[in-house]
Amino acid sequence: MTDVVERLNFMHDLAAIVADIAEEMQAAPDRGKPADYIPPLARVDVAQFGMAVVTVDGRVFTAGSADELFSLQSISKVFALTLALGKVGSQLWDRVGREPSGSAFNSIVQLESERGIPRNPFINAGAIVVADVNLTRGAPRESLAELISFVRHLADDDTIAVDVEVAKSESETGFRNVALANYMKSFGNLHHTPEDVLALYFGQCAVAMNCRQLAMAGRYLMAAGLNPTSGHRIVPETRARRINALMLTCGHYDASGDFAFRVGLPGKSGVGGGILAVAPGRASIAVWSPGLNAQGNSQLGTLALERLATRTGWSVFDRADAPPA
Ligand code: GLU
Repeated sequence: MTDVVERLNFMHDLAAIVADIAEEMQAAPDRGKPADYIPPLARVDVAQFGMAVVTVDGRVFTAGSADELFSLQSISKVFALTLALGKVGSQLWDRVGREPSGSAFNSIVQLESERGIPRNPFINAGAIVVADVNLTRGAPRESLAELISFVRHLADDDTIAVDVEVAKSESETGFRNVALANYMKSFGNLHHTPEDVLALYFGQCAVAMNCRQLAMAGRYLMAAGLNPTSGHRIVPETRARRINALMLTCGHYDASGDFAFRVGLPGKSGVGGGILAVAPGRASIAVWSPGLNAQGNSQLGTLALERLATRTGWSVFDRADAPPA
């Protein structure tokens, strides 16, 4: 009985925590700057903030602009990695490392000394190798369709789609990604043409989702690889645990250590201003605010997650007996 009461109190508190954080973020003076490398991202209004928390028992708490679509960008690397591991399993690790890079997301420097093997699947070079693995359907368009239908399945939402304008801008300006792809091709670490691999990579970055959809899509990572509502297995438990480990250590580029220090949850950010965070066994969380900090991670998204983790006791470094979601 005490358990049930404690739980109900916590659910009530969680609704209040989410609402309070959104209110605090609405009023925050320092909102960062939106990504400016392509016009469709540069013009997004930094006044916006959204948040969605989906608990392991299926409750959904949202606040602010939780239904506003934003560009997934590098968060797509989590879903692409999940798909690639499903195709080739641990053979992927012959071609991509599992160490934090300590460098910017699009750095080319390490690739030289490490002979075309990217440090991890969440920097651009690593994600480009993952795209090469996912290019199993012939043309990039078909492989992109496969990725989108996977994300739709994860989120239980058939409306998720690519923002065509963003995809076009990505490919018109992605010179550094073209360089990374060609460089890895020269080391033999791409099996398809750089053009085809990048068409898939740019397409996946341009997927548009809102916080509610993203938190839903991340449920398998908080629930040991299962869809917690249907009970269907998405990935083996070990794989979910390992993807979480990579998100914790590599999910925020060269600010991954700082994110672990402040938030203490596996998380993956994107330059569209979104962050997917996972409280294992408890909740899948999505935040979005387009203004970025100096490392290219959402300024208010990070702050909101820091406050959520503090107020719920959900950091993976917290006491294990913090209230369950
Ligand atoms: N489309 C961006 C790029 O590849 C993604 C960067 C990001 O979200 O970190 O340059």
